[in-house]
Amino acid sequence: MQRLVIFDLDNTLLDRQGPLTDWITSFCAQYTLDEHAQDRLLQVLRERAGPDTFKAIRSEHGLEPAPEKLWHDYSAYMARSVTCPPDVIEGLSMLRRAGWKVVVATNGGTEIQTAKVTTSGIADHVDAVCTSEEVGERKPGITIFEKAAAACGADLTLGGWMVGDGVDTDIRGGEAAGLHTIWISGSRPWPGGDKAPDHVTDDAGQAIKLLLTMAA
Ligand SMILES: [Mg+2]
Repeated sequence: MQRLVIFDLDNTLLDRQGPLTDWITSFCAQYTLDEHAQDRLLQVLRERAGPDTFKAIRSEHGLEPAPEKLWHDYSAYMARSVTCPPDVIEGLSMLRRAGWKVVVATNGGTEIQTAKVTTSGIADHVDAVCTSEEVGERKPGITIFEKAAAACGADLTLGGWMVGDGVDTDIRGGEAAGLHTIWISGSRPWPGGDKAPDHVTDDAGQAIKLLLTMAA
């Protein structure tokens, strides 16, 4: 099998949940929103966010600013706030030194996801980044996996690994794309039923250590 590893971005290589919670707290303080609104925002923004999400948020909470401004403020905050743990950055670098092709495949807008990859320092340690916006299809669709492999000079049909925290998007999607899978559990029990991923690790740092031990 070729040494190809495709990583999910949010809550896999970087922590999106921490900055998201902080952003919601300050947003609710700024617009005088109550705890119920805080819970709703967490629910709505947990999986994804885009300009349309902020149209819905603006109308649900009766906010004055244009949705474009709300989206811009949110994405600017997230882009400058996400971080990647030092052991993950070092691990990505070690994978490439060991001959792995390393690529990010992420569901999201190109502008915000690219900004996050750059701010967190990940951009310097991967061969390519693929976003669902530029590909025109979200995970678990197979196109984004194909494009991600091709973007780093690999061929998806020759196999590889998918590492991510999303059960359907990353693990089921990765399997359908013919990849071996590592699920980033964040200490959660596997919720996906009988067909388990090939491996489960708490975080991306441990997944990388595991990959480095494999003779691909
Ligand atoms: Mg994720």
